[in-house]
Amino acid sequence: MDNDSLTQRDLRVVWHPCTQMHDHETLPPIPIRRGQGVWLEDFDGKRYLDAISSWWVNLFGHANPRINAAIADQLQNLEHVILAGFTHEPVVQLSERLTQIAPKGLARCFYADSGSAAVEIALKMSFHYWHNRGEKKRTRFINLANSYHGETLGALGVGDVALYKETYRPLLLEAITVKSPDGYHREPGESRADYSTRAFAAMEAVLARHAGEVCAVIVEPLVQCAGGMRMYDPVYLKLLRQACDKHGVHLIADEIAVGFGRTGTMFACEQAGIAPDFLCLGKGLTGGYLPLSVCLTTDEVYQAFYANYTARKAFLHSHSYTGNPLACRAALATLDIFRDDDVINRNRELAGHMARATAPLVDHPHVAEVRQTGMILAIEMVREKKTRAPYPWQERRGLSVYRHALERGVLLRPLGDVIYFMPPYVIKPEEIELLARVAWEGVDRATA
Ligand code: PMP
Repeated sequence: MDNDSLTQRDLRVVWHPCTQMHDHETLPPIPIRRGQGVWLEDFDGKRYLDAISSWWVNLFGHANPRINAAIADQLQNLEHVILAGFTHEPVVQLSERLTQIAPKGLARCFYADSGSAAVEIALKMSFHYWHNRGEKKRTRFINLANSYHGETLGALGVGDVALYKETYRPLLLEAITVKSPDGYHREPGESRADYSTRAFAAMEAVLARHAGEVCAVIVEPLVQCAGGMRMYDPVYLKLLRQACDKHGVHLIADEIAVGFGRTGTMFACEQAGIAPDFLCLGKGLTGGYLPLSVCLTTDEVYQAFYANYTARKAFLHSHSYTGNPLACRAALATLDIFRDDDVINRNRELAGHMARATAPLVDHPHVAEVRQTGMILAIEMVREKKTRAPYPWQERRGLSVYRHALERGVLLRPLGDVIYFMPPYVIKPEEIELLARVAWEGVDRATA
């Protein structure tokens, strides 16, 4: 088997996600034979550094021996069992541990199989909570401009990235969209914290006006990832928690991308010292091995559904593979690594290394900003540094960075013209330097 033969077969039968398949006429998909640590290897033996953790899921490398062993062990006993009416040890253990490490008050775990499904659950649960309490006028959600929460219809409805949303708008629920605290828009000399505080006025006004018809506010804490790795200050979350309490509205924290150490703390909400009413987790939950997601919520929410069957208050949502035992074991092994290897502290050094290695890019004539929150670093490429005028999207400058990086054996997958690093936590300093070099070359060529 070589790259070409598998690619030809692929292009006859596979429809790839988030892809204009026509692009593959000039840039075929790369068939991967094996992964090891931060490296992927194709069928011709070429290696690629997985700088984006395979869509932000991988935490401790491909073929991690500890996660491999946990899944193999689980396979000997139970691959799957229905979670309605039955249970199993991995799901009980995982729920115990998640409720221990999550922000205070999150005491119940409801499982699903993708991030989008976890978001759907949070939306439905919040709505249903108010419904069970007799507050039937609450049908709306507040979201932030430039937010992203997944691709299913409910999740798209509370997202705000036009590229993914616009076509489907007639099918979607209508969120109330509020100005984003995204620090990219701050005035020269203004701090991210000041800008985020200033941006909060818009949220306060909308909450004051609409609180009675709103179920929840949904946000991506600290980093709007799919929206171009746009970052904001924790103060916004603090103000938001206070305002949600004041106006009697739920707060949904979508930490599907930013949870599990990405922002420098186990959960991004910790940096604001707040706990949401719903916490959505996915992606890194299984270390990047298996599809599993979870929506954690409070005992107060749980109690609003707890009643005699005939009261018709139950949450009857389900997915076939909910709480899959293999995935739960992968998640438990992932949590063990966090506990045993002092990951959060070690990441601080890696994050410092990412900052130092990319420092020269700050002065590049076509880089508007190099920004970082923990283990996420983003480089915003623009046509004009001074005005921050972007390149016309049709020019697809980010794509040429992607192509250059592939040639150099690095998987960078820019979001438009934003090049970012979101590597597995087992990356080495010299590999970070390679990333920074390739990013510099890529930006330089794409803007020449
Ligand atoms: N929420 C956020 C913040 C995400 O980044 C993503 C995925 N990129 C999702 C939800 C959706 O997760 P999934 O792709 O697993 O459905």
